Amino acid sequence: MRKHTITPNLFIFIIFLEFFFLLFILPHNPLFFHHTTTLPTHRSSATMTKEYALQFDENKAFDHLKSQLDIGPRIPGSKEINKTREYIISNMPIDWKLTWQSFVPNESWNDEHIELVNLIFSNTTNPFLGPQILIGAHYDTRKYATNDLTNRTAPVPGANDGASGVAVLLELARIISLNNWTSYISLAFFDAEDQGQLEGWPWIVGSTYMAQHMPKNHTIGRVVILDMIGDDELNIYQERSSTDSLVKEIWDEAAALQYNTYFLPEKKYTIIDDHQPFLKKGIPSVDIIDFDYPEWHTTKDDINAVSAKSLGIVGRTIEAWLYSLLGLNADNRNDSLPPPPVQKPTRSFLFLAAFATLVIVTYLRKVKKRTK
Ligand SMILES: [Zn+2]
Repeated sequence: MRKHTITPNLFIFIIFLEFFFLLFILPHNPLFFHHTTTLPTHRSSATMTKEYALQFDENKAFDHLKSQLDIGPRIPGSKEINKTREYIISNMPIDWKLTWQSFVPNESWNDEHIELVNLIFSNTTNPFLGPQILIGAHYDTRKYATNDLTNRTAPVPGANDGASGVAVLLELARIISLNNWTSYISLAFFDAEDQGQLEGWPWIVGSTYMAQHMPKNHTIGRVVILDMIGDDELNIYQERSSTDSLVKEIWDEAAALQYNTYFLPEKKYTIIDDHQPFLKKGIPSVDIIDFDYPEWHTTKDDINAVSAKSLGIVGRTIEAWLYSLLGLNADNRNDSLPPPPVQKPTRSFLFLAAFATLVIVTYLRKVKKRTK
């Protein structure tokens, strides 16, 4: 029997094309490959803390806080918030790549068409594929001091509510770079967290947008939000909607550092904050927030209400937690640091590979028939 619909030369060309596609194009397409490395299970650094000195510098963090106050109130759409973005970008270590996520909410409350911007940093082109930990803070400040008894239409300076989280994130970025942990972590600076109930605005606009625009095959397994952690009388209770296992990981670290008078092992408030959109996506998330703050949403949320010491307590707790998850710097120790993320084929890739095999087998059978 002789029946050829495609010439052998064309077949060879098709096979060549397929191999080219499989070898060189697919591995770079996140649609076809997941980046996966499972983090080691968490162990508290209680015994490890004696072996190394934590490097988080509370004075460096406090300088970042003061610089934001010098800029002025950071209201969405203002020139001050633009300056704050410039400040954040120019103070991130160079090994982080920036994903600039901007959008203009098409809603009645945004009749001024204000553009909102989340700044997401990681060492990959997609901050959700590869990194497994997302640490975030909002960088906007509230337009009106709605809890102020005398000055309700003045803006909130946002020393604690805004600047403290950003300050700790910027200093953590330095620590993460020092320890070669960048492959595992994305850092997010959210816009428009704090405008809720002002002129119709909702809360947590930036983080909601980010969570809704994560790819389905994202690798983020832990989200940590830092908000209002600079209060000079620091009492951080466990936030009720946060994921229990993640709360335990971090509160265990704090206890190991003897910070249990600041990280109180007790649930107290439920808070609408930037962790909520990620919880909704099913990602374990924790909101680290000191909600016992008399200056909250008043004009007194200024430099006098915050301290470098508090930033240090929270920063070192997160640093210790990262050590427990990721191990010590490979330059300091030979062990502990897990390998960088590996790529695993997705179902789409396997389907295409099977299809390619089918084409090859069909061709070989035709060739065999012809030689008969
Ligand atoms: Zn607030």
